[in-house]
Amino acid sequence: MDNIIYLDNAATTQIDEDAYKAMIPWLTTFYGNASQKYFFGQKAHKAIETAREKIAKCINANPNEIYYTSGGTESDNWALKGIALKSNLNKNIVVSNIEHHAILNSCNFLKQLNYKVLYADVDSCGTINTNSLLKVLNDKTCLTSIMFANNEIGTIEPIKELCKEAHDKGSLFHTDAVQALGHVPIDVKDLNIDMLSASSHKFNGPKGVGFLYIKDGVDILPFNNGGAQEKNMRAGTENVASIVAMSVALENNIKGLNNNRKHILELENYLIGFLKDKNVDFIRNGSNNTLPGVISLSFKNQDGESIMHRLDLKKICISTGAACDSINTQVSHVLNAIHAPSDYIKGTIRISIGKNNTLDEIKRLSIELLKIVQ
Ligand code: PLP
Repeated sequence: MDNIIYLDNAATTQIDEDAYKAMIPWLTTFYGNASQKYFFGQKAHKAIETAREKIAKCINANPNEIYYTSGGTESDNWALKGIALKSNLNKNIVVSNIEHHAILNSCNFLKQLNYKVLYADVDSCGTINTNSLLKVLNDKTCLTSIMFANNEIGTIEPIKELCKEAHDKGSLFHTDAVQALGHVPIDVKDLNIDMLSASSHKFNGPKGVGFLYIKDGVDILPFNNGGAQEKNMRAGTENVASIVAMSVALENNIKGLNNNRKHILELENYLIGFLKDKNVDFIRNGSNNTLPGVISLSFKNQDGESIMHRLDLKKICISTGAACDSINTQVSHVLNAIHAPSDYIKGTIRISIGKNNTLDEIKRLSIELLKIVQ
């Protein structure tokens, strides 16, 4: 679409050209059911197994540790409920207070079943440090779930250290890497994590598909019950075309990681430099270790909602926070958790730059944004 400037890549991304092309034959020509034993079904079966190998390689996992799901929300629900329901009720679950609602609302569900959930606080940059985690971990914790990077402010968490603390207390460790995967390197063996959630549409793959990495030997309940797909762990006819496309998109993003990062940081620096040059009164939320391109800005005495709508009139798409929160007009739980100053908090917007954005687009955004906030 001409003239649109899409700067909400943390909400979703444009599909990678190769990934899109890779989908088509599995929708049109080779549409067989991957569970059927005749050659037409086996061709589809082979395609999803090849995709599994590719995906596993991208995160340094074994292919048998990758389970396909319908996306990040399902993976998060599975990880939390699948471990909690296997454990007994006197166990507890630890999460951070800036998790995505797929985690927080799974916890709310478990609380209704009388599970105890403990929340680790973040500092003003959105970082969960080991001390904050240690305050809530105990020998009854069966699962600790901390997001790899926050979707609103981009802060990347010290996952390796946090995972070690959780393991030392005998807890399993899950990370919601939905925003991070495909944008920063992730090696599940080096991190020593037990589970990881991922969603294809956040790394230039199609929507409605994702995966859960489950380390060999982790004892978790199946997500649902039905056919024998995904080794009896996640029933339902496989979404072959989307699975294949997801593997291509992830592979391409991992190959392009350094170049994409460099390009995105250039655009990011232009925008921040421009606003500073013009003496705009704003705070950039997050830490000095944030996801490339996720820019949370709080403008003094402004209204984020109105900035978003005025940019929309110029066909520039940005957000006020998480996409799933945009129907919820309350101040985001993440901004509350980092104690964003009261005269800035309402004036918060999230600009998220992707690999396909150009410097010209950022220049246009910078000018339009300046007109609004000045
Ligand atoms: N977790 C995080 C951190 C997210 O940012 C999102 C989506 O915004 C999700 C989970 C949910 O992923 P999906 O849209 O694939 O269900």
